Amino acid sequence: MRNVKMLDDNTINKIAAGEVVDRPSSVVKELVENSIDAGSHRIEVEIQSGGTSLIRVTDDGIGMNEDDARLSIQRHATSKISNVDDLFTIDTLGFRGEALPSIAAVARFSMHTRTRDSDLGTKVLIIGGKEKEIGSIGCAVGTTIQVEDLFFNTPARKKFLKTNATETNRVQEILSKLAFSHPEISFKFISGNRTIFQTPGNTDLLNVICSIYGETNRDLILPIDFSDEEVFITGYTSKPNYIKSSRAWQTILVNGRAVQNRAVAKALDNAYRSLIPRVGFPLSVIEIKLPTKFVDINVHPQKTELKFADESKIFHTVYHAINDSIRKDSDHANLKNFALQKNLPKSKSKLEPFQFFEPSEKNISEYVQDQKFSQDQTFTQEQNQKFVDTPFEKLPTEPTPKQRTTMDPNLRDDPLEPIGQISKCYIIAKDSTG
Ligand code: ADP
Ligand code: MG
Repeated sequence: MRNVKMLDDNTINKIAAGEVVDRPSSVVKELVENSIDAGSHRIEVEIQSGGTSLIRVTDDGIGMNEDDARLSIQRHATSKISNVDDLFTIDTLGFRGEALPSIAAVARFSMHTRTRDSDLGTKVLIIGGKEKEIGSIGCAVGTTIQVEDLFFNTPARKKFLKTNATETNRVQEILSKLAFSHPEISFKFISGNRTIFQTPGNTDLLNVICSIYGETNRDLILPIDFSDEEVFITGYTSKPNYIKSSRAWQTILVNGRAVQNRAVAKALDNAYRSLIPRVGFPLSVIEIKLPTKFVDINVHPQKTELKFADESKIFHTVYHAINDSIRKDSDHANLKNFALQKNLPKSKSKLEPFQFFEPSEKNISEYVQDQKFSQDQTFTQEQNQKFVDTPFEKLPTEPTPKQRTTMDPNLRDDPLEPIGQISKCYIIAKDSTG
């Protein structure tokens, strides 16, 4: 029989690394969350080779003095909680004190950090969990952490990595979501010596969306601003004629954190599905603020999948929020169109507001039961690369008989005469029998 032995710290850290850091994007997430917790205004992330050869995160946060820097690389060293009670009031992102030692265990790790009230900074160098150097260095206020050759000493983990392009995309995706959650912070992302995006950090979410997805989106997205009792929903969502072929352009923020949630995603699907005759996904950054009692606390805090105590209530609220913002836009479009329809007979020129369908119980049970749905929550990078923006204009402008019948079952047998189009999306037709 073998003897029972205590594992040494380095082994423990390597095991912990498997939970905390499984790929470059999770290293980036941990480091950037630390930078956010440190009160930074500017955070710069640079990677090379998808983050496998280099990840560098530089911030202008509060930094650490030498004692704190020494402690930060110890296991379970954290400045964020000191006892179990604090766990229930925590508002910072990390608190387990595991990230830095875990990352340092599986890479060549170096840190430069300085606080405002010290002239000299501290330099820490750790290679594969072994402390090589701790000393003083001149550096800017804030912290720079550099992670090179990730998993060089854990080849089994390295094998799990996908192509550099895929890893780069994952980093970009995580960083985008952190940037959407913090429009007050300026994020810069550099990959392979190329600046991929830079957000202004001026608190305006629309500017963050346009710096990440491109300035052309500015005219294609609508503000969301809706509240229902204690639930506040804000953000931006694309016009119904601007849809994407995957869910990758959807960010759900709940009380400031990017999460995955089926009810919200399904509410988005359903709101658009009632407006457009084809499958697609809106570009949306939707921010939900609600009392924490609405969130199901049984879900592990580290998980990005979040559940609400009453999912169907949130489904309804989001559905209405989205319809509301599209309706406001279409009312505006109707007004503009009204002015153009002078040649129509008066009685027929009144354009009815578009019909929005109440989510039925069927809709709700559909999303609850929709097993396939949870699979398309996560999408592969291969799918990401297949994103095609399909502007609606490419569809035939004449409605086909099938489209007519799906618009309104009551009109099924009546011939319809198209008389106009709104937002290059809606066909206005009159019933030529009456
Ligand atoms: P946790 O975030 O769970 O506390 P980490 O291992 O991620 O654990 O970090 C350990 C500690 O190091 C943090 O609690 C914080 O005090 C300090 N720290 C880490 N990164 C930074 C940073 N960028 N700026 C200032 N302090 C930092
Ligand atoms: Mg942390």
